[in-house]
Amino acid sequence: MLFFRRRFSTLCLLLLTSFSVSAAASEKWSAQWEPTKLVNGSPIIFRVTAPSQITELRGNFLGQEFSFRPSKACHCWYGFAGVSLATKAGTYTLHVEGKGLGENEGTMSYAVTVTAAHYPFSRVKIPPAFVEPPKETEPLIAAADAAKKQAFATTDANPLWSGPFQRPADAETSGVFGTARIVNGVQKAQHKGLDFRASIGTPVHATNSGTVILARSLYFEGNCVMLDHGQGLVTIYMHLSEFKVKEGEKVVAGQLIALSGGTGRSTGPHLHFAVRWHGEYLDPKTLLELHPPAK
Ligand SMILES: [Zn+2]
Repeated sequence: MLFFRRRFSTLCLLLLTSFSVSAAASEKWSAQWEPTKLVNGSPIIFRVTAPSQITELRGNFLGQEFSFRPSKACHCWYGFAGVSLATKAGTYTLHVEGKGLGENEGTMSYAVTVTAAHYPFSRVKIPPAFVEPPKETEPLIAAADAAKKQAFATTDANPLWSGPFQRPADAETSGVFGTARIVNGVQKAQHKGLDFRASIGTPVHATNSGTVILARSLYFEGNCVMLDHGQGLVTIYMHLSEFKVKEGEKVVAGQLIALSGGTGRSTGPHLHFAVRWHGEYLDPKTLLELHPPAK
């Protein structure tokens, strides 16, 4: 944070200068992002080519700071970021700042366009006890909230993931991310995950490497596993029938972590897979389609 706060007062001035730094310096900079068409809810891989003198690179997009990693495979730096569901369509600025060069040459800004996603509507019926939980379940819900809060607070400062994110289950997908749900006739919050039509007992795999920060039964989520991939990125697997990992365990991409089920608030057996980044839920389908460079 300091990295940016320290320089924020000069940023407005720099904005002008960084768009028009000397031709020689700006030629060495370029930025690309994936997906190329960003919408609210998109996870993003930014790829930046920077002058060779740069030794460390940080980015800031939509108010969220993140770091870049160098990759020999792409001769570039890459970083994970996201657009929250609540972000309005518009053009936003990606700021990048590197260590190793002077103030003007080490900073660059890019205009990034976000368009509005068109997410669908769906009607679902859920047992009333889960829509309006009976009073005696309040302690269970409070315990679940506390466990989740604690888990989300333990994200690693370093990236623990690398390479593409793998599908968590070998099954077709159904409920897509962002669907506005009409539950028992009443419009509720958007669906913030991707559902896999997985029958009970289907193997569930870690989408990428990380640490198990939660593996326990929660009121709504049922048996739930959360994996920390570092730097605020967490993947969540819900309604499981059986755990294959314990809290605190390190996992590698593709590792068996659980068997799917229909526990918690569920309309039937399925795997609900969610992606959380700095408290915002992002589209898991897009995450699975990204092509992060190899190291
Ligand atoms: Zn779901």
